[in-house]
Amino acid sequence: MPRPPKSTSFDYIIVGAGAAGCLLANRLTEDPRNTVLLIEAGGGDANLIHLVPKGFYFTLTNPKYSKTFATVQFPDGHVEHLPRGRVIGGSTTINGMVWNRGWANSYDAWEKAGNAGWNWQRFLDAFRKMERHELGPSATRGGAGAVDIEIAGPREATCDALIASFAQSGVPFEEDMNGSGGERTSYVASNTRKGTRMSAARAYLRPARRRKNLTVVTHTEAERLVLDGTRVTGVSCRRKDSSLVTYTARREVLVTGGAFDSPLLLERSGIGNPEILAKAGVKCRVTSPKVGENFKEHRGILLQYRLAGVKGYNTEASSTPRYLWSGFKYLLTRRGMVAHGGYALSAIYKSDPASEYPDTQCFFTPISTSDVNPMTGRMVVDKFPGAKYVALPMYPTSQGSLHITGPGLDSVPRLEPNFLSTEEDRRMLVKTLRKAREITATAPFAKYVVEELQPGPQIAEDDEIIQYGINHGNAGAHGLGTCAMGPDEDDVVDASLRVRGTQGLRVIDASVFRDQPSGNNNAPTMALAWIAADIILAERR
Ligand SMILES: Cc1cc2nc3c(=O)[nH]c(=O)nc-3n(C[C@H](O)[C@H](O)[C@H](O)COP(=O)(O)OP(=O)(O)OC[C@H]3O[C@@H](n4cnc5c(N)ncnc54)[C@H](O)[C@@H]3O)c2cc1C
Repeated sequence: MPRPPKSTSFDYIIVGAGAAGCLLANRLTEDPRNTVLLIEAGGGDANLIHLVPKGFYFTLTNPKYSKTFATVQFPDGHVEHLPRGRVIGGSTTINGMVWNRGWANSYDAWEKAGNAGWNWQRFLDAFRKMERHELGPSATRGGAGAVDIEIAGPREATCDALIASFAQSGVPFEEDMNGSGGERTSYVASNTRKGTRMSAARAYLRPARRRKNLTVVTHTEAERLVLDGTRVTGVSCRRKDSSLVTYTARREVLVTGGAFDSPLLLERSGIGNPEILAKAGVKCRVTSPKVGENFKEHRGILLQYRLAGVKGYNTEASSTPRYLWSGFKYLLTRRGMVAHGGYALSAIYKSDPASEYPDTQCFFTPISTSDVNPMTGRMVVDKFPGAKYVALPMYPTSQGSLHITGPGLDSVPRLEPNFLSTEEDRRMLVKTLRKAREITATAPFAKYVVEELQPGPQIAEDDEIIQYGINHGNAGAHGLGTCAMGPDEDDVVDASLRVRGTQGLRVIDASVFRDQPSGNNNAPTMALAWIAADIILAERR
């Protein structure tokens, strides 16, 4: 057990050392007047496996570093377990590291919806301040920030074939996947430094750890916020050994637990929908009916192919000796398959020519895993050449929810993802799968395809595609929206990210996004925290 901090009173208490929490801890302690406590439910990130990009295949399913949230049963009776990081760095320590900043119009839509100041220009400024981009600084990229951004390489024949097939279909190649808002394919940009993971903790927390005004406690989970009337004055936490400790915030509590945990912490503290709180045995302190609602997550389809005539990455990872050899090569070169996260290639494109804007994203890698090891739950790499193509509609409209079912940390939350519950999402899913098949049936990629292993050609009719998507679809690991920002009295947070109806409390993480900002949301969440730090520091002056 780490030693408890000497003080229990701080200016700011940050709950959760993830994408947002690490960045905030750094920025707020740049001002020596601020004392900050960062509370993390998980443990440290010292294990070297976290530095290795492909290491996340091992850490993702390890309860030492991740926590899963079980969904309610799907129509076919199965339950999905959606993972989140439970470790210093949060999900940025176990994620796929795709540095995808999203689409300008998505951000501008938030301002147009009444959230003053939340627009693309402000996010772009934050991205540029955070980035140290391999391609160098430009009007759209940063060159001197703390987060190294590297492009997956070296180029690989299967990926190049798919790039050429996209080009045949009118989707051009661009070197920088974040360089424009148009249709494009690119080798993915990842937050890595010389082929090693650049988590939010490594980029922002580690450089700040020596500051005297920053205290970090691990294995300490915030059970509930301490309220004096409607003012939040502190946080009551449970340590790993089950002991309780209460910390006091002289200024504010900043909740950065992520889109799954933040609404649950609010509800355990009596901030939420009175009916849901009553059912869970929690006294309502502040009525906030949308807490835990508006859960939005990508739901797409994973296509897997058996290939012939190209090598891909399967041969590098299909047995332990080969994987070790790949690891050895990686240690020497810091390039290649092990050096980038989940995927090698990204494509952003229209699901059909009539779409007004690119509405679909593809993540592609020349690895196939058509089996899962029943003992470890890990994917097994195929012995033959293969590829994965994840096709995701980028703007889901279905809304799920996530709520407590009891007053304490031991009660299991109820997660209803409601995937594909709108007509719009179902229509998009069908178009998305058909478009993916059209691209992969286009030369030159088509000439390598032996068969579609997953979902398989038998999933062909609209209804079959929709049922397949609901029951076997691919969740993007991008859940958000459960404490969404908005201009209305019943929106959870306002444009300063303050929780309405309370004082001394803000939520600053992926839960405050109203909608998907296009694709992945690590970079957007870190930029959100950057902007939040600007707001808090400006108020402090
Ligand atoms: C498997 C996976 C793959 C992903 N791949 C990508 C990708 O390639 N690209 C991308 O852009 N995004 C990706 N994401 C999403 C991205 O990582 C998240 O959007 C981002 O990390 C969200 O940041 P956050 O600060 O909201 O939450 P998190 O980063 O999840 O951090 C929350 C932190 O708060 C802690 N915490 C929660 N509750 C409490 C409590 N009560 N007390 C104390 N501590 C608490 C948690 O332990 C955690 O450390 C992926 C996510 C996952 C899970």
